[in-house]
Amino acid sequence: MSTLRFPLCLLILSLGLVGFAQAVPHRDNRVLAQSTTSQSTTSQLTTSRSTISQSTTSQSTLSPLATVLSQATILDLSHTYDENTLYWPTSPSNFKIETLASGWTDKGYFYAANAFCTPEHGGTHIDAPIHFGENKQTVEQIPVAKLIGPAVVIDVSAAAAKNRDYQLQLADVRAWEDQYGKIPEDAIILLRTGWSQYWGDRKAYLGDDTPGDASNLHFPSFGAEAVQFLVEERSIAGLGVDTASIDNGPSTDFLVHRIVADANVFGLENLTNLDQLPPIGATLMALPMKIAGGSGAPVRAIAIIPSAD
Ligand SMILES: [Zn+2]
Repeated sequence: MSTLRFPLCLLILSLGLVGFAQAVPHRDNRVLAQSTTSQSTTSQLTTSRSTISQSTTSQSTLSPLATVLSQATILDLSHTYDENTLYWPTSPSNFKIETLASGWTDKGYFYAANAFCTPEHGGTHIDAPIHFGENKQTVEQIPVAKLIGPAVVIDVSAAAAKNRDYQLQLADVRAWEDQYGKIPEDAIILLRTGWSQYWGDRKAYLGDDTPGDASNLHFPSFGAEAVQFLVEERSIAGLGVDTASIDNGPSTDFLVHRIVADANVFGLENLTNLDQLPPIGATLMALPMKIAGGSGAPVRAIAIIPSAD
């Protein structure tokens, strides 16, 4: 969510080369591996990461991490930014893109460049701790190592389907641990509510589509007691959810935002494709634009699901 009113304007340049797209090999869309819930799967990529510096690979040999990646399924957890991207109802503006150039030059090559403008908090984005915590980390101050970690996926979609204001309960976290084991340190907790199916439909997604009014929102998210536990007892790195906020729609005190901000834990909002992730075993990478002093930023979030082999 956002209460900030300062849009961020940026200029992007992209060079289109004829035939470039055809020259780039496309990753096969492998059939998603069935859920693999063992702890050993969780650590597969982490192990590779920790040992990669010791690798003595020659040019003809893939590094351990590259080997894992070459066999993994890579999932995109970000929504596309376009004119339909949803922003908080009080946001003064939304995503805008302007064509600066697109066409063939008189020198014989194609050239495309755009300028875009967006508030920090809209679409798939990160909440830096400073969003709700004075003197806490800004976007560029979040250690990159914290933005990569084991993805713990807690599925509350059934409860949310019955109660659209559902909040993750401590009992849900306990039940997850009973089934899959203790949540690892520096985990990124992803709350699957099923809400990304409503993305693009403001009324269905937020619960209300009254312009400028955030007082009647209804969507599920995290609950304060559960998050307090995750922060204090499990030392998580971040939270992520497939709704518009890490607090649920009716929240007015934004307690979850404040709890994570105090602990320098980040939040990810408006994620998608969480239904395609195993409860444990994937590694999340959520890399935001490195905005100096940013309270939030657009994020390209991906999940790496190692092969079950
Ligand atoms: Zn936000």
